[in-house]
Amino acid sequence: MLKTIPKCHKCGKEIDKNEEIYVKLRYPKWGGMTEIKAYLQNEGKFFCEKCIEDKV
Ligand SMILES: [Zn+2]
Repeated sequence: MLKTIPKCHKCGKEIDKNEEIYVKLRYPKWGGMTEIKAYLQNEGKFFCEKCIEDKV
């Protein structure tokens, strides 16, 4: 799993385990998924379910 607990990019809430989340992510340049964890931590923006609902 990720080393740090991801937080919602909008409200700052820590993402709970097993919570459904949304990640905004640029597709990696190299097109592979081998380093996806590191990539998620560096590039990913997490949103909790509630914030996504608010936006829609
Ligand atoms: Zn949120």
